[in-house]
Amino acid sequence: MNPFELLKTSASSKARLGRLTTAHGEISTPIFMPVGTAASVKGLSPRDLKEIDAKIILANTYHLYLRPGTPLIANAGGIHRFMAWDRPVLTDSGGFQVWSLKELRKIRENGVEFRSHIDGSKHFFSPQSVMQAQREIGADIIMAFDECTPYPSTVQEAKHSLKFTKRWTQEAMDYLREHPPLHGYPQYFFGIAQGGMHRDLRKEAIEQLIDLNPDAYALGGLSVGEPTDIMYEIADYSTDFLPKDRARYVMGVGTPWNLLELILKGVDMFDCVMPTRNARNGMLFTSQGVLHYKAARYAQMIEEAIDPHCDCYTCRHFSKAYLRHLFNAKEILALSLSSIHNLHFYLRLMEQAREKIENDSFESWAHEQIQVLQQKAP
Ligand SMILES: [Zn+2]
Repeated sequence: MNPFELLKTSASSKARLGRLTTAHGEISTPIFMPVGTAASVKGLSPRDLKEIDAKIILANTYHLYLRPGTPLIANAGGIHRFMAWDRPVLTDSGGFQVWSLKELRKIRENGVEFRSHIDGSKHFFSPQSVMQAQREIGADIIMAFDECTPYPSTVQEAKHSLKFTKRWTQEAMDYLREHPPLHGYPQYFFGIAQGGMHRDLRKEAIEQLIDLNPDAYALGGLSVGEPTDIMYEIADYSTDFLPKDRARYVMGVGTPWNLLELILKGVDMFDCVMPTRNARNGMLFTSQGVLHYKAARYAQMIEEAIDPHCDCYTCRHFSKAYLRHLFNAKEILALSLSSIHNLHFYLRLMEQAREKIENDSFESWAHEQIQVLQQKAP
């Protein structure tokens, strides 16, 4: 089943306009998905998420498997009921998280043995067990269990993760064919293409995936420490081989300007902890550039909003001086107000991108924004 409809491709770049249809709502692409790792976007309630009009959020299988346990979420009726969020959800498979555990995990032919980062307890993820966990969670979009290729990687290492990812993807799809969704609505399965920064292996990974025919395609193993130019180049190269009628998702990227660059290269979907994590550290993205609101020069700015062109709840009500004060006084409100702004900023940027693609003015606008957004804000 293909949940994606391609509505338009830009005449002067690979930028695309599309629509994903799920049981919990439609999603216009390009889209950014706020990250709610443990079934919570840190510091924001579902009411806040609706106010910024988030269309889909991401949760993480590894974290939910460990805590509270995916059978509990199944008993609660699935993640939508459990967290009181009735819009679409995507779950990451946990492949990247167990891979990131490094000395706490052992990769085997049939899966990954790992120790919990919480209490050191021993666990095993196989392609089948991860699909079972994602069925219990009940997200609208579920991800393949993959083996992430490190950066830098030799051809041999990249080939190794390709081999495992291919086999595990096949096994996951076989499992899903025999085990339909638990909660009564479709769960779309996204395959993940690895291949490191080796062009020929990226192509091979995509061709292997096309043979398996997943519902949509993700590019994994990007933004793992490689120079940004290489990430752009690999994404640009890879999208040439992806089927045009399927959604394309680059996992774990990135800054607002990264998103615009990747939209130019034909990517439809993004997720990243950056807007929320950076907000909690006092770094905000604005229409005038990057702003660190802890800076002393904002102490007296009792009239100016964080972003004069932003209509989020935070910018409509609070000054730079107030936010800075909250942060210095270690008030938790600082964290949610700044996260609201950053997520709102990302979502509006995607909305603008869609409008610009629609009226054939995306490329010049995107190139201008890519410069402006990286500046230091006043
Ligand atoms: Zn704002």
